[in-house]
Amino acid sequence: MRDKHILVLGAGPAGSATAIGLVRLGYRVSLIGSSRSFAACEGISKRTLEGLRSAGCLKAATAVTGPSPKYASWNGGIRQFNTEHLVSRSQFDIKLSEDLRTAGVTQLSGRVLTVDESKQGWMILYQDSHSQKKTIRGDFLVEARGRSSALKDKKKIRGPETVSLLQHWKMQSTEDNAASMALSYPSGWVWLAKMGTDLYTQVTVSARDPRLPKKTALQPFIINELKRIPESHSWIKSAVPFGPSAARASTSILAGELVSKRQLRVGDAALAVDPLSGNGIFQSLSLGLSAPAVINTLIRYPKRAQLAVQFYREKCRETFFRFCRIGRDFYAQEQRWSEHPFWRERAQWPDVDPLHVEPEPAQTLIKMRPVLAQNQILNKAVLITSDQPLGIWRVAGIELAPILKELFEQPDHSRDWMKTRLLSEKGYQQSQRAALLDWLIGQRFIQ
Ligand SMILES: Cc1cc2nc3c(=O)[nH]c(=O)nc-3n(C[C@H](O)[C@H](O)[C@H](O)COP(=O)(O)OP(=O)(O)OC[C@H]3O[C@@H](n4cnc5c(N)ncnc54)[C@H](O)[C@@H]3O)c2cc1C
Repeated sequence: MRDKHILVLGAGPAGSATAIGLVRLGYRVSLIGSSRSFAACEGISKRTLEGLRSAGCLKAATAVTGPSPKYASWNGGIRQFNTEHLVSRSQFDIKLSEDLRTAGVTQLSGRVLTVDESKQGWMILYQDSHSQKKTIRGDFLVEARGRSSALKDKKKIRGPETVSLLQHWKMQSTEDNAASMALSYPSGWVWLAKMGTDLYTQVTVSARDPRLPKKTALQPFIINELKRIPESHSWIKSAVPFGPSAARASTSILAGELVSKRQLRVGDAALAVDPLSGNGIFQSLSLGLSAPAVINTLIRYPKRAQLAVQFYREKCRETFFRFCRIGRDFYAQEQRWSEHPFWRERAQWPDVDPLHVEPEPAQTLIKMRPVLAQNQILNKAVLITSDQPLGIWRVAGIELAPILKELFEQPDHSRDWMKTRLLSEKGYQQSQRAALLDWLIGQRFIQ
């Protein structure tokens, strides 16, 4: 597929995972990216680390700290959640660039100025790191410029307008003290993260908060907000602000124009959720791992273009609303200020639908739906449940629908019948069969 030239705009986790995946499929890929202009720390889960490795971002996966405790002071009590891995985003982004080089992605360092589409394809005007204006042409465009994506999109869905104010600090401590904490307070919530001598604070408030200062007065505003929260005092007491403050938009946004025959949005440019659900890098990687198969189908199998578009749109929409509901339920747990506009609005958005619906075997359905298989999007029979509306194609690598169809024809849904049936599935390991059996029992398909 070297004859097709794919342009990726943005070198965060989404653009990097997509570019690496496309190179692995044999496409010629050029990625244009400029570096982040502010210091930020983020927390990622073990699952995200695994996602980084499967996306080929092995060096980026080494930029994180070991697992460190994660606390929350919410609704008047302090709880320890499991753990998370903290990462300085500038270090992480440098390592992503090394991963791109290793994978063979052509990297053009610069800022995209304009994006134009014509019958011949895409034309990008960018300013390189020496302030020279240059152009590059391509056949397919991947928009991965995160929240600063500038492509036109009139059909966006937006949550309550939210902004996060960031400050990097330096501390005396050199001990291995990595930890993070989320704290609620009447006007919003704060995230604190420390690693060695670095402390990062992030104050999240409504973007309509009338007290919000001008950019030049951000630092005193952040310090005052932190002083209002007694639990933050021990974190900042021996710290001094280091470098300028920054404001990051953190409104939840789902793009309307997610994918068409010649372009696709990935990562935050497709869907960006409120950082309270804390999974942005994971979602970006998850889309970045699917995007190459969608693009491959659009380019190589145009007869299945509509199926690929359907797959990607539904995946983005489903992911967006699932994570928005996780955020909503977390906001709703804070009851002390439930009448304060910040909390009231977020505890009700995007809807009142439950996050999780207990699947009922009687309400399941087998249906043909688009799935990702063999680096493309195919139409396959899948199991639809109330909790998995996009369908489950395989469990432990074994296709579910054919086995379930036979099971539904059995008079008694017995474990013995299923064990014998699974043994007849050639080419699978015992561990896969055992995992599927456990899953079927857990979902109450067999007794
Ligand atoms: C306040 C806040 C806190 C967060 N905390 C967490 C957290 O703790 N854990 C977590 O998992 N996620 C967190 N996230 C979400 C996470 O940052 C994003 O979901 C993730 O980085 C999205 O990846 P991406 O590749 O889509 O975009 P980005 O990582 O934003 O990458 C986009 C890239 O495009 C580049 N770019 C932008 N414009 C141009 C241009 N014109 N030309 C060239 N390049 C350009 C940018 O410099 C950047 O390198 C947080 C988000 C916010 C706002």
